[in-house]
Amino acid sequence: MKLIDGKEIANTIKGEIAEEVKRIVDKGGKIPHLAAILVGEDGASETYVNNKATACKQVGFDSSTYRFPADVSENELLEAVDFINNDPEIDGLIVQLPLPEHIDNQKVIQRIHPEKDVDGFHPVNIGRMTIGLPSYVPATPYGILELLMRSRIETTGKNCVILGRSNIVGKPMGLLMSRNEEPGNATVTICHSKTKNLQEICAAADILIVAIGRPGYVTADMVKEGAVVIDVGIHRIPSDETKSGFRLTGDVRFEEVAKKASFITPVPGGVGPMTIVSLLMNTLKSAKKEIYGSID
Ligand code: NAP
Repeated sequence: MKLIDGKEIANTIKGEIAEEVKRIVDKGGKIPHLAAILVGEDGASETYVNNKATACKQVGFDSSTYRFPADVSENELLEAVDFINNDPEIDGLIVQLPLPEHIDNQKVIQRIHPEKDVDGFHPVNIGRMTIGLPSYVPATPYGILELLMRSRIETTGKNCVILGRSNIVGKPMGLLMSRNEEPGNATVTICHSKTKNLQEICAAADILIVAIGRPGYVTADMVKEGAVVIDVGIHRIPSDETKSGFRLTGDVRFEEVAKKASFITPVPGGVGPMTIVSLLMNTLKSAKKEIYGSID
C-alpha cells in the first residue's frame, strides 16, 4: 500500500506557485490577489478563511478579508460582491459558506463574476466544465485530480465509484473522472443515499472516492484488493488520546481498508491540504487570464 501524502504534494505545488509569482513580479506583473467574504463569527469558517490567508502569504499572493456581522442584509452583501467584482486589483473572490439563513447562498454565488469565481461554484463555470471549456474547477475535486496525477495513478478505462453527489464534491468529481482526458476517461458510478447494493458497487471499484460525511462508513469488505481509495470526509470525533480531546477521522476506516488498497489518502493529511492549494492554483490562473483570457 502506498500512502498518498496530500500535505507533501500540497507543499510541492505551493513551491511551484511561489516560483511562478516571483517570475510574474520580476517581469513587472501584478501580484495575484485573493479576496474572501466572511459573514458572522462561526469558528470553523473563521479558521478556513485564516488558513486561506496564510496560504496566500506563503506563496506571495495578496489577500484580503471582507468581514460582515451575521445580521448583514442580503443587499449589502450583494453590493460588496459587486464592489469586489469591479476592483481590478482582485483576481479571485470566495464567499465562505455557509451563510446565515436569511441570505440566499445561490443568489450571492451567482453575483460573483464568473472570471473571479475561483471556487468554481458559479453555474457558468460548472456549465463550462461540463462541456469541456476552460473553467475554474471546484477546489476539492481539483485537488483530487492533482493527487491522482502526481501519484501517477492511471484513470483511463478504470472503474471509478464515487460515494456522494454533493454540488461541491461528488457531482463535479463524476464529471471530471468521465471527461475525455487523463485524469479522466474512467467509467463512473455515482452513489448516494438511495443507492441499492452499495457494498457490491463499491467492491467493484478500481478507484473509490468517498465523500458522504459519515465517519468510518467504508469498511474493508466494501473495497476491492488493490483499489485506489480517496477519502474526502473529515470529522472531529472525541478522543481520550489527544490533548484537545478530539481527533480527525475520515469516511473510510483507514486501518482495515489500507491493508487492501494499492493507494490511500489519510485523514488528516490527504485531500484536506489540497483544497486550499487548488484555490491558489485557480487564483493564479485568474491572474494570468488563463481561463477567460484564452477565449477572448
Ligand atoms: P454532503 O453535502 O454532506 O453530501 C453527502 C452525500 O453523501 C449526499 O449525496 C448523500 O446522499 C450521500 N450519502 C449520505 N449518506 C449516505 C449513505 N449511507 N450511503 C450512500 N450515500 C450517502 O457532502 P459533501 O459536502 O460532499 O461532504 C462530504 C464529506 O467530505 C464531509 O465529511 C465533509 O466535511 C468533507 N469535505 C471535505 C473537504 C476537504 O477539503 N477535505 C471538502 C469538502 C467536504 P443524498 O444526496 O441522497 O442525500
